[in-house]
Amino acid sequence: MNKSIPNLADLTLQDAVVEHDRLSKEINLHNKQYYQDSAPTITDSEYDELFNVLRSIEALFPELITSNSPTQKIGSPIVSGFTKIPHSVPMLSLDNAFNEEDISGFVDSLRRFLKLSVSEPLELVSEPKIDGLSVSLRYQNHKFVRGTTRGDGNQGEDITNNLKTISDIPDKLPKSAPNTIEIRGEVYMTKSEFHDLNTYQKSLDEKTFSNPRNAAAGSLRQLNPEITATRPLRLFAYAWGEIDSKLPTTHSEFLKYLEEWSFPVHPLTRVCEDIEEALAAYSAISEARQGLNHELDGVVYKVNRIDWQKRLGFRSRAPRWAIAHKFPAERAETVLQNIDIQVGRTGILTPVARLLPVKVGGVLVSNATLHNEDEISRKDLRIGDTVLVQRAGDVIPQIVKVITAKRPAHQSPYQFPHSCPVCSSKAVRVKDEVARKCTGGLMCPAQAIERLKHFVSRNAFDIEGLGTKHIEAFWKSELIRDPSDIFRINEKSLSSRDGWGEQSAKNLIDAIASKRTITLDRFIYALGINQIGQATARLLAHTYGSLPKWRHEMNEAQNRNSESYKELVNIDGIGVSVAEDIISFVKETNNKRILDDLEQFTSVTDFQSLTTDSPFTGKTIVFTGALEKMSRSEAKAKARELGAKVTDSISRKTDFLIIGSNAGSKVKKAQGLNIKIIDEASWLQLVEK
Ligand code: AMP
Repeated sequence: MNKSIPNLADLTLQDAVVEHDRLSKEINLHNKQYYQDSAPTITDSEYDELFNVLRSIEALFPELITSNSPTQKIGSPIVSGFTKIPHSVPMLSLDNAFNEEDISGFVDSLRRFLKLSVSEPLELVSEPKIDGLSVSLRYQNHKFVRGTTRGDGNQGEDITNNLKTISDIPDKLPKSAPNTIEIRGEVYMTKSEFHDLNTYQKSLDEKTFSNPRNAAAGSLRQLNPEITATRPLRLFAYAWGEIDSKLPTTHSEFLKYLEEWSFPVHPLTRVCEDIEEALAAYSAISEARQGLNHELDGVVYKVNRIDWQKRLGFRSRAPRWAIAHKFPAERAETVLQNIDIQVGRTGILTPVARLLPVKVGGVLVSNATLHNEDEISRKDLRIGDTVLVQRAGDVIPQIVKVITAKRPAHQSPYQFPHSCPVCSSKAVRVKDEVARKCTGGLMCPAQAIERLKHFVSRNAFDIEGLGTKHIEAFWKSELIRDPSDIFRINEKSLSSRDGWGEQSAKNLIDAIASKRTITLDRFIYALGINQIGQATARLLAHTYGSLPKWRHEMNEAQNRNSESYKELVNIDGIGVSVAEDIISFVKETNNKRILDDLEQFTSVTDFQSLTTDSPFTGKTIVFTGALEKMSRSEAKAKARELGAKVTDSISRKTDFLIIGSNAGSKVKKAQGLNIKIIDEASWLQLVEK
């Protein structure tokens, strides 16, 4: 959040227009970051604050409400590679309440709307608001047939195959269930599994997640269901969408059905006779929250009687019959004692805030993430400042803002270093990137050591017994300076070192020897090239097949006019920026020598496709047009599974062009080059053989 919130009482219409526009843009940007990128840059409560100001402005100036206002929309439009599915019953948001007053206002409005007298009982169901992402699960003839995300509320993304990997979701319903029913619920990740996943991601040098919700969202919106299957996702069910038989008479009755049909329903759900009981349920859930292994961001109250729910109906983005009572964020003030700069494998300088330890929501916090240089200047953080710290989504501490009133006099702005704190080389910012990077390359001990750690990590060479401590010590004493040195370690080099007996030396040497043989994808991944994670390494291995071929082609690709370069950027999932990183890696003299040495010390096995008898094995395929039966991403995954290479554009090397409806210019080009063109039906027939 950049600007302070305006004083609404003084707002003129002219100011309101400007402010409304600014807030709408800001909220839309945050919606995109949260819903599409699963990478929010502000906390949920900061978002709620922005949203509420926008709402208040609209309450003062209703003429500013248009269908484009964020207050009238849900989530964010979808632009990903999934097939879009319209929801037969929209998936709505919930209105928010932040205190008891808001809740009594809500209950009063219900009574007014329904014309209930004060003495008429109005039951509410209180349910924990699970901080995950909502999904709709369609069952037809008692079988799970389709699952979607909420998307923009009117249409979501088809993530059926991903949802099928979640064991909390039954694939069949008993015969007593309706023939057609959509179950709605929240997919989430437990706190402990989120920590395990991040530790694992870190060990691979892959992206970590800032909280369990983002981890769940990122895991569920994977184009490859195999990745989703490895992520520990769970579900709580709480509502229905379309249903083809008689509705239950109360929401609580429906929740009982859900349980009978084997859906997990949150155990802290309660039926409350009146507002006092609802607020008591809120307190009970708040207290239980710390001890739960999943995150909640509030309590949802729902009118229990379904006939009343129907009468109350919906406003544009939320039902009238429900409200979310949000938990306040857990915050505390402390002092920013220092900012440490960490240097990663690729040279990125990451600032970490060192705080005077403080308890936030029962947990002692002494560090906070600061992301990058811009974040520090945006918040104008200065060492010695008193800052407001928040545990976002209960887990990773963040600095919300500086308490400027408490700033000591003469405190100067923080200067982000322009040189590497480890090797003193220049640290520069590449155009369009937020990160500042050390230019020392492998001369920089931090980068060299991180690169070695990556080389031996679990999904690379997986050399057990060569942990961080050993790598650091071996690097310092110059026993290991680059990855190939690992294979040069022998009894002699260890015998003179403190702490190494005959047996421990033998164990390490055996462990290294047992990992000399490695598959091509792991080998490429182990090199630690910028932007080459496991998936991209696999694509490269798949495309080039063997180490000599890959090296040869990458050398050729240094000429940007070569066929090799064109082939490299044309690989679906690579593109120019990744290609440039690979080329600059292989071009570097030091890396060339390391690759030569590694080729000599290790045995890299050629890429083997699992399938060998499909008409697509080893062939190069391009997809074009809209496929009806499968999403483009599913089709690509299927092609790769069959050992095909998928590329973006047609070239002489293309073997097949698979066309969906509205195929464009690619067809002409393929015809010109005599490339075999297959329509969707024939493609399906061939892949399903
Ligand atoms: P919001 O994210 O602010 O739009 O709030 C609405 C969302 O809360 C829904 O789309 C669901 O994803 C989520 N939610 C979590 N728990 C519940 C619950 N018990 N009942 C309804 N919605 C819930």
